[in-house]
Amino acid sequence: MTIPLVDLASQHAEIADEIRPALERVFATTAFVGGPEVAAFEREYAEYVGVAHCVGVANGTDAIELALRAVGVGPGDEVLLPANTFIATAEAVSHVGATPVLVDVDEEHLLIDPARVEGAITDRTKAILPVHLFGQTAFVEELQRLADAAGVVLIEDAAQAQGARRWGRPAGSLGRLAATSFYPGKNLGAAGDAGAVTTDDPELAERVRITAAHGSPSKYVHDVVGRNSRLDAVQAVYLRAKLARLEKWNQLRREAATRYDELLAPFDGIRRPRPAAGNEDVWHLYVVRVDERDRVLDTLAADGIGVGIHYPTPVHLTRAYSHLGLGPGSFPVAEAAARRILSLPMFPHLSMDQQERVADALARAVAVA
Ligand SMILES: *Cc1c(COP(=O)(O)O)cnc(C)c1O
Repeated sequence: MTIPLVDLASQHAEIADEIRPALERVFATTAFVGGPEVAAFEREYAEYVGVAHCVGVANGTDAIELALRAVGVGPGDEVLLPANTFIATAEAVSHVGATPVLVDVDEEHLLIDPARVEGAITDRTKAILPVHLFGQTAFVEELQRLADAAGVVLIEDAAQAQGARRWGRPAGSLGRLAATSFYPGKNLGAAGDAGAVTTDDPELAERVRITAAHGSPSKYVHDVVGRNSRLDAVQAVYLRAKLARLEKWNQLRREAATRYDELLAPFDGIRRPRPAAGNEDVWHLYVVRVDERDRVLDTLAADGIGVGIHYPTPVHLTRAYSHLGLGPGSFPVAEAAARRILSLPMFPHLSMDQQERVADALARAVAVA
């Protein structure tokens, strides 16, 4: 029996019966884009995150782009973001015509390092875009201080942190705006692509909503050159059912993380993740660090264990961003981590048996080194 990295089937099984009537209603009324299900989800997600406004959009990358546009980030501007993130964070900056300025991360948590952010701020900096990586909230209070001092905006990439809290405050409510992704594998996942922007600012929310709907505040009125990035009703139905279970599912992830911590503690050579002070993590990923990672990964894969690397190549070393001209050695912490990180199976329905098998296999693979 193989153990997947992420098990979406068990999540679907929990909601399958419940979503049927709502899905049938969507198909019967043919309200496919926007409509009452989308409006209801937006209300519920805003309430969950503790903000005044949520705008559902087509995916997380668009959400970041729309948030950047809403505060006027564009050509000539620089946006600071971590070197080790999913490439979408940088892509969104590029798509508004601004320059992604990568910053190295802290060694312990692999979150954008506020000390290094300070040194990267220039006259052109327009925004700081921290990523709440692996389900841990970035060090936002320090980042906010730096943003305030420099007169720039803090925007969260909260794609991996639905339900996470820092000093009791929810991720997604900590910046001027926040972008999130409901890609199926995220803690709150849709049945396809989906995303959202959250904010307390009604004007910014309206700007995102209008831009995402062809610059159109009402039918056939076009105030700006917008685009099409809207949330589908089918996704809203799916997301509402999963949102109702998110707290429970995140709690199950926390319990699984505690079990991994106990199971792996006896073994040398496996560096376990440690939550930062003030953080209530939601364990989007459980990432250990080992030597000879590629060999360990192959061994686990051969044992039928779903493992991953998030991410094997820091943004500056991808071909897509070779034009930044930042070679190996530019961000030593992110680069060293990329060689050692290994994501273990992590999902709400992960069983003790499965975790024991993962821990056994990992300990054996590492011991061979
Ligand atoms: C998933 C993800 C995104 C992009 O979301 P999509 O919905 O796939 O466009 C952006 N940033 C981070 C950190 C992510 O994990």
